[in-house]
Formats: sequence, structure tokens, C-alpha cells
Amino acid sequence: MTETVYLEVALPTPVRQTFTYSAASELGPFPVGIRVLVPFGRRTMIGIVLNTASETTYPAEKLKSIGNKLDSTPIISPILIRLCLWASDYYHHPIGEVFSTALPTLLRTGKSASQQLRVLKLTAGTTTVETAIAALTRAPRQRSLLQLIAERDDGVTATELSELEYKRSVVDALIARELVSWHTRDLTLSPFSSTGRISKPAPFSLSDEQRAATICVEQNATRTTLLYGVTGSGKTEVYLQSISRLLHEGRQALVLVPEIGLTPQTINRFKTRFNVPVVSLHSGMTDLERLNAYRAAATGHAGIVIGTRSAIFTPLLNPGIIIVDEEHDASFKQQTGFKYSARDLAVLRGQWERIPTVLGSATPSLESYHNAQTKKYALAELTERAGEARPASFDILNIRKADLKEGLSSALVNTMRTHLSAGNQVLVFINRRGYSPVLLCHECGWIAQCTRCDARLTVHFNSLRCHHCSSTAKIPRACPDCNSSQLVPLGAGTQRLEQVLNDLFPDTKVIRVDRDSTRQKGSMEKVVSEVTEGGAAILVGTQLLAKGHHFPSVTLVAIPDMDAGFYSSDYKAIEKMGQLLLQVGGRAGREEKPGTICLQTHFPNEPVLRSLIEEGYTSFAEHLLADRLENELPPYHFQAMIRAEAVNRDEAMKFLGDLAKTLPHFPSTLALGPIPSQMEKKAGKFRAQLLLSSIHRKSLHQLISNCIALITDAPPNRRVRWSIDVDPIDTI
Ligand code: ADP
Ligand code: ZN
Ligand code: ZN
Repeated sequence: MTETVYLEVALPTPVRQTFTYSAASELGPFPVGIRVLVPFGRRTMIGIVLNTASETTYPAEKLKSIGNKLDSTPIISPILIRLCLWASDYYHHPIGEVFSTALPTLLRTGKSASQQLRVLKLTAGTTTVETAIAALTRAPRQRSLLQLIAERDDGVTATELSELEYKRSVVDALIARELVSWHTRDLTLSPFSSTGRISKPAPFSLSDEQRAATICVEQNATRTTLLYGVTGSGKTEVYLQSISRLLHEGRQALVLVPEIGLTPQTINRFKTRFNVPVVSLHSGMTDLERLNAYRAAATGHAGIVIGTRSAIFTPLLNPGIIIVDEEHDASFKQQTGFKYSARDLAVLRGQWERIPTVLGSATPSLESYHNAQTKKYALAELTERAGEARPASFDILNIRKADLKEGLSSALVNTMRTHLSAGNQVLVFINRRGYSPVLLCHECGWIAQCTRCDARLTVHFNSLRCHHCSSTAKIPRACPDCNSSQLVPLGAGTQRLEQVLNDLFPDTKVIRVDRDSTRQKGSMEKVVSEVTEGGAAILVGTQLLAKGHHFPSVTLVAIPDMDAGFYSSDYKAIEKMGQLLLQVGGRAGREEKPGTICLQTHFPNEPVLRSLIEEGYTSFAEHLLADRLENELPPYHFQAMIRAEAVNRDEAMKFLGDLAKTLPHFPSTLALGPIPSQMEKKAGKFRAQLLLSSIHRKSLHQLISNCIALITDAPPNRRVRWSIDVDPIDTI
């Protein structure tokens, strides 16, 4: 009698559970982490085996049996499975969808986990081939190729053929003679070699602080280190030193960078230093490129893996270190679907893999800073800029009652002129792309609004666009309400500022950098090389300019307006403003020339701003933390946001209101709201939110589980879509 095994399988469905299937034991073994084909409803699905058992509590006759095994060895490691299970639990997200984020598309759709190569192999027997070789005297290319193939048991690859310059006609002739034919074989990737010259030495000697930081990472071999180093202090060098040591032990490094930080320059910094394969993982890759990078990592072939958020799920054969650069960056938290924090998962994964994790930033998130303060993380500080560079100084311009021209005070324009005439470069930061944020009718006060969002349309050169739902409209010739032709764009975006600066400085090159100007592949690199060449120039742009770039000739960073952070209703806005201010400001004076950050503000005496510029980020962070403690906010309290949206007004509010009424009470746990979201209507849907908060993480999660149970047990409401965001980074 054949025995039956029971498999617990994760399937890519939004259902919050795993599924049990039976399988004949002859098909086995079924190691955890392999893919199986299973029937699901009327379809067939690919699932991941999470567990096997010889018994089940289900009525065995009701269980369906699996169709087939797709792998004999796991495609995902036990620690990564554990990470997915943990994340599914913590973020209250269906396990199958968590795996969908973790695995490359091609593995999810059933492609082989090993790499296939097309190779030419012999088809004819040895004697036939020997005779053929002897006979091919008048076709020397065919003869030499046949000889080569005859020497190779595993065949000759297409790449080799082109390297050796064998023409297609030569290959086809041998195939026509039935001597050789195409086959596929698995490509075996072997771990990178840790012998020989793996790394070049640093082109300079390390500062004492850099050396101490490197030692700190080494000593905290199974812990997280917060590398808190001012901009330009040489954090990357600390990463490189730590990576070098581990590569010599044959271990791999996983480096996570923010979405806009993954530039060819970043990758090159690693490639030029180390003599090991470096692979990158990002959203711009094809599915096949992604799968190949995944394999290179999983087989130990890649010494260094650099990627954005989802790269945290990359398997490593010999993990050595995880680095999260710019750990405060919002892009590490996914904002839709499976709302995980790659930074937080990195810390956990590091612990489980028993390897060091390094979180690096000049402006650490309050959570990470707090964890360092409470000794959960080790702390390594770099307080000085590397090499000759000195810290940039602040110049605060009070613009209350000032006469602004297109948002620029004459004092700011004069400062810019001084820097430019010295042959230096100026960076003007504005957090708004487009020409102007508002189109207003001068006669009646009509404002161009998005019909699908509670938002104004942004004026671009030749259209009106909504930055929230991407809808576009023509710029009207006349006001739709009063027919006046007096339509005026109010306020400035990057495009208008570019125009204004071109008028103010007609002899200076003005380069705009925003999402619209860098849409084309390679355009950002062009800007960077143009700017690095030097010579007076003005760079005007958005956040895209804030991160990572090293512009040696920029001596002035001008910030016309960052006041929004002071009066936002989102308690995190001020933290983000401070981080952005220092990150953008950090582009000034990165080499010998000293830098200045010139900030226009209506709040020159705002205490948090003063603490930031006079005492520095540490003092700023401590101010904010004291405030968070007093107001029972993270990191002292834990939060989750339940969001709902519906096409009909009030329906989302009612849905969350009904939920809030039925919630059980837990000690020190609160449900706040529901309230309509700040932008209530977005892309045609009305949105509402319910904030859950607790001093105990565990109670918070119990409350979330209760919410989910209440929602899923209630009669289904197809008009409302809801989602859960644990540790939300946006609360408005
Ligand atoms: P961060 O990542 O902290 O902003 P980087 O690692 O980009 O800083 O370093 C800033 C610049 O300083 C780079 O050009 C780097 O090559 C240089 N640098 C780093 N460490 C040193 C050092 N010890 N001596 C001289 N220059 C250094
Ligand atoms: Zn009008
Ligand atoms: Zn819109």
C-alpha cells in the first residue's frame, strides 16, 4: 500500500491561510521550500511547501492530492521561509502574497530554478565523427568546430561559439550532416573564489572614526550596528571595509539602498573595489535578469548583491553581512499591498543568520536612533567629514514680510550670485515638480482641480496633471466658470524655477533634475557627469538631488521653501523635514571648498529648527523623541492603520465606524477614529482611516487580529476595500 504524506502549502491567494494537500510518498521526499503544482478550484497553482506531516486532522478523503513537484531542492532557504512567515504574521498579510513578493516572477510562474544553457553536442558516434573530421579537409572551420565539440563532454555554448567567431552557416552545416545538435544543460554556478586578490586597498587612509566604526561592526558580529555619520563622513568606506573582511572569508554581502540611490555610480563603487561578481536587483530589470541575479546570489556566485527594498528576500548561500544604506529612507517601507519594512526585516534576518547588520544614515530614523540609545543596536558615529571637507554652515533667511520674486528673496539671489561668480555651483532644492502647483482664475477665483482627487492639478509646460492619480487635462484657454482668459499659474515648481533662474542668470547653465527630466534611461548619469566636470552651474531639482550624489563643486544649497513640515498634521512630517534638510544640505561643500545651506523660512525661531541647525541632528532627534514620548507616539507606542476606500462617499467611514464600535477593549490600547483621510478622495475613491495604538506590541497585534476576524466574519462588503498598515510611515 502506498503511504500518503500531507503537505502544508502556501498559495498565491489573498486568503489568509495555508492549504493542506496529500501526496503519495513515492513522489517524495518533499523538502520544505520546494515548489509543487496543486489543483485549486478549477485552476492549477504553484505553491511552496512549508511543512510535511504523516498525519492530518483534516478528513483525509477530502484532501486533494498534488499534481507534481517542480523542484527536488528548495528554492528558498529555511531562514527566508521563516522571515516570510514572520512578516505574514507581523504585517497581517496573506502568506501566499508574501511569497509572491519574495520570489522572482519567473520562479512563481514555474520556470526552472537552475539556469539553462543551450549547448552544441555530438549526436553521431565516435567512429562516424572521426571519419568526418578526417574527411572535412576542405571545410577547416567545420572541422575545427567538430573537433572542439568532440573534446567537450558538456558541449559548447552559444556564447563560446560567438567568442570563437564560428559563423551560423558553419554550425548549420554540422547539424545538417547529423553530426551535432542543440541540447540544453543546467548551468552550474559556483561560489565566488575567496582566494587571490579580492579587494583593492582604500585610496586613502581611514580616519580614526572610520577605523573605530569598522571595528564596531566586526565586534558586533551577530548584532545590528547603527552607523550614524554626517553626510560626507565616509560611511561607504566603512561598508567597503566590513564587506572586504567577509569576502575574504568567502561570505556574501547584501546591500540595500533607497529606490533612487541605486545608480550606476553606486554599483560601480563596489565593482571597482572588489574582484568578485556584483549583481544588482531593482525594478527596472527584466524578469530574466532578475532571476539570473537571484540565482547568482543563491548559488554563492555573487559576492555582493545590491538592491532596493525587495532585495531583502534574496537568498544567499554564505551570508556575511547586511547593509541598509540611508536607513531612514521612506522607500524601504512598501506602501501598497504587502506593507513591509525592508529595514526592519533586515535587522531580523541578520539576527537569524547570525551575521552583522549595519544601518547607515546621516539622519537616522527616530526608531533606529532610539534603538541605539537603548542599546538594542550598537552605535558607531562619524562626526566629521572625510578628507579635507568641512561641515556646511547654515544661513537662515527670515522671509516674513520679505518681498519675494517668484519665491526668491533678493538676499538669496545675491548669495547665489556670489557663489556663481566664484566659479562654483549652486543647488536649488524645491520639493515640487511641474511648472506651478495651482492654476487660478484671476477674475473669479476658480482653481483647476482634479476630478478624481481632492487635489489641485499641477501646471506643466503643456498640460495639467494630477500628481496623485496621474490624470491629465489640457490647459484651458478660458476659465470654465466665468470665461475669463486671465488664468494665472500660482507658485513655482521645478520647471518654473528653472525658467526664473534662466532669466536671473542668463550666462549660467541651469540644469533641472526631477522625475520628468530624468525619465529617460541614462539621463541622470548624464547630469551627474556634466555637473562633476565643474564650472559655474545651477542645479534645480527635487529629492532626486538629495541622495547619495557627490557633486564636488557645489558650495551653496538654496532651499526657498520647506515650511510645510512645520504645520503638517502628520506628526512624522517634522522628522522628514529635518532629514531632508540635512540630506539636501549635505550636498554642499563635499570637498575642499566650504559649503553653505541657505534656507528661507517664515519660522526662523521655531525651536526644533533652531535645535537642528545650531546643535545638530542628535539634539533635534532628542527633542522630537521627548515630544513623541509625551504624546504617546512611536517609537514608545506602537501603531497600525486600518484604511478603507469606497466609490461612494461615507461608505468607507461607515465601514470603519461599524468596526470600531464592535472592537473589544484591551488595556492601554486605543482605536482612534475613524476619520476621513486628509485627501479624502483619491483616484475616484473616498478614503477613511482608523488608527490603532498601544503601548504593548502584543496587544496591538491582538487588536489587529480581532479587526481582521470581525471583517472577515461579517457578510462580505464588496463595495469597500480595506488594508492594514503596521508601523505606518504616513498617518494622514
Ligand atoms: P557618506 O556616505 O558618509 O556621505 P562617502 O562615503 O560618500 O560619505 O564619502 C565622501 C567622500 O569622502 C568620498 O569621495 C570618499 O571617497 C571620501 N573619503 C571617505 N573616507 C575618506 C578618508 N578617510 N580620507 C579621505 N577621503 C575619504
Ligand atoms: Zn473665472
Ligand atoms: Zn487626481
